[in-house]
Amino acid sequence: MSFSIEHFEQLALSAPLLETLKELGYEAPSPIQAATIPSMLEGYDVLGQAQTGTGKTAAFALPILERLNLSNREPQALVLTPTRELAIQVAEAFQGYARHIPGFHVLPIYGGQSMSLQLRHLRRGMHVVVGTPGRVMDHLRRETLSLAALRTVVLDEADEMLRMGFIDDVDWILEQTPAEKQVALFSATMPEPIRRVAHRHLQDPREVKIETRTATVATVRQRYCQVGSQHKLDALTRVLEVEDADAILIFVRTKIAATELAERLEARGYPSAALHGDMTQALREKTIEQLRGGNLDIVVATDVAARGLDVQRISHVINYDIPYDTEAYIHRIGRTGRAGRAGDAILFIAPRELRLLRAIEKATRQPIERMPLPTPEAITGHRLAQFKQQIGEVFNTQDLGFFQELIAEVEREQEMNAHDIAAALTYLAQRERPFQFEDAIPKDAEKERERPPGRPVREGRIRGERSSRDSARDSADFDKIRYRIDVGREHGATPQNIMGAIANEAGIEGRYIGRIEIHDDYSTVDLPDGMPLEIFQHLKRVRVRQQMLNIRRFDGVEPERRRPGRPKVERLSGNREQPVERKPMRRRPAQPSVDS
Ligand code: AMP
Repeated sequence: MSFSIEHFEQLALSAPLLETLKELGYEAPSPIQAATIPSMLEGYDVLGQAQTGTGKTAAFALPILERLNLSNREPQALVLTPTRELAIQVAEAFQGYARHIPGFHVLPIYGGQSMSLQLRHLRRGMHVVVGTPGRVMDHLRRETLSLAALRTVVLDEADEMLRMGFIDDVDWILEQTPAEKQVALFSATMPEPIRRVAHRHLQDPREVKIETRTATVATVRQRYCQVGSQHKLDALTRVLEVEDADAILIFVRTKIAATELAERLEARGYPSAALHGDMTQALREKTIEQLRGGNLDIVVATDVAARGLDVQRISHVINYDIPYDTEAYIHRIGRTGRAGRAGDAILFIAPRELRLLRAIEKATRQPIERMPLPTPEAITGHRLAQFKQQIGEVFNTQDLGFFQELIAEVEREQEMNAHDIAAALTYLAQRERPFQFEDAIPKDAEKERERPPGRPVREGRIRGERSSRDSARDSADFDKIRYRIDVGREHGATPQNIMGAIANEAGIEGRYIGRIEIHDDYSTVDLPDGMPLEIFQHLKRVRVRQQMLNIRRFDGVEPERRRPGRPKVERLSGNREQPVERKPMRRRPAQPSVDS
């Protein structure tokens, strides 16, 4: 790997943070962390090109925590995120990294959540605020959020904020911050509008770009398997069942994950060992020797521990946790296909990480083919075939005289024929590990949603992941009502910024936002029937291009053409004159984040 900082201890972080990182099992800083943390600690602005999964949250959270003045309970850092999920996730990450910093407070603020709750928390005092642009603007206008003590502003996933139409809001918010401050901007891509924001608000920034060196790994067949985090272990089990492997090296991100996964595989009947930096050199060498000698077939390793590992019988590298960057990926898969042999690399990837997959393809100049998750039927078939083959092998290679006599005895004594005895024995042989394969992965798990427009998906480690049953529902499958909003072409509105604002502020998934039509001074948008009253009220006040949406049911008549005297009735659905009290919308019921 390219970064020269190999240990967190080299980063001038204080004991409580180092202790936390140790407990979390982080072995070494990721490249973005190695590059960003020292600059932020020194007070520099940072322009970081990095996507999700590179460890960028810790890259900004750790220096912010390091530099906090805990006795001042005015916000000292503000993190802007495109979505509420990300706001929650980042806030939780801060809380996690601050576990040994007593008295630390972080607050996520986002649309759709009760304002009074946020106000209560804000009044109590916060060190870090993580919010979506719309809600942060709301608080700034109401003067319920003071930025006077602000020292650091982070723009997280700036290109997503741009895509969702928030970039002007971000600009406005930055103008409200003190002149003397540190700004860190992270974005997966650097389109011109983001560069402009950077130019306007960042002073002499340190640019951090995670290099994507090109390389070829010609003898390695690369595949990827799309799987959500909650099904990863089951998916790994399926892959181990069907792959024709010699030795397998599985990569994870942390020392703890290495130990845990090795234990869990053991528990499932796959003898495995961990390989990580906390193990003594002697133990590491012993593990590698076992692997080399064929006494051990599965090793679960971290990047650092597997550096330079050269064991020719490794036929498979499985990227259980996605690597931080293409370079780490190339390094990992280089552990197979040694000495001109063929090798297999399988990458587990969550839908939200597909971007990294494309970057890897570009860097290795090789396509990574999609590998469908092996089905339970295929695994059962595989087990049966293996069993049949074993019978033949044993018959051909073992002296079975003693056993043949035993069976003859059973035939006589129990009056059974050899066929029935064989069936009974087969049953016994598979009782510990039945031929019929079953696990907890639902049938349509692979259809788990890809990134819907306007609403990036984060993995379900913070809030529940979607159930696969719901994911099958497509955008056409809901009753729509057409609404009118008071922002149009004249104001500079685009479908993207309308969609972004509604998705984010009302917590409605992008795919439930129907057709958007832009007119001169207003627009229409189709939304699901039965919108809860509080979301509707909130949407009225949401702004796009500085215009309050003032959303109401569209009756097909533009106001200026409305016949005089015609009563203006606002209806949300059916004959109801007012929205109903929190009747759940026909949205994905299993996702708590939508309804909270
Ligand atoms: P992010 O790119 O911030 O979304 O982080 C992706 C994941 O990597 C998170 O689950 C982090 O907990 C994890 N992570 C971040 N930094 C490290 C590190 N240095 N070592 C191991 N895991 C890390």
